[in-house]
Amino acid sequence: MLSPAIEKALNEQINAEFWSAYLYLAMSCDAEAAGKPGIANWFKIQFQEEQAHAQIFINYVNARGGRVTLMPIAEVPAKWECPLCAFKDTLEHEQKVTAMINNLYALAESEHDYATREMLNWFISEQVEEEENAKTLIDKFTLIGNDGMGIYMLDQELGARTYAEPAPLASGN
Ligand code: MG
Repeated sequence: MLSPAIEKALNEQINAEFWSAYLYLAMSCDAEAAGKPGIANWFKIQFQEEQAHAQIFINYVNARGGRVTLMPIAEVPAKWECPLCAFKDTLEHEQKVTAMINNLYALAESEHDYATREMLNWFISEQVEEEENAKTLIDKFTLIGNDGMGIYMLDQELGARTYAEPAPLASGN
């Protein structure tokens, strides 16, 4: 059984993952409207990944005999001034998610819930990757500046990204 504090925190994390999905879907739509289909593709895959993150937490709460409570998803912005702006927001957002995962880990430790702590290990590594991806793209867009050809080439590169099911879902856990 999950303690009430852990169950509440996991439900808040499920909501945060869905909010992340919502945020990246908005960024994808904004890029599509701005005629940058590759960036739109990159954010659409982020959107899919965040839904998968929520699903991993949902599966875990169910497996532990807890109750999933789906709360309202808060509104997200609809427009970004430039691709660099969206990736800067992405990094800032992922840093907040990292802090949430760390807090959840600390809570699991204080509650002696070692199964939850173990489950969170995958997310701790995943957040390192999320922050690194955003930083790399911030660097690239900063380097390019307003160069149209550079933006075109990078858009093409981001258009090649494909979705891969996160390991905890792919392995059926
Ligand atoms: Mg996530």
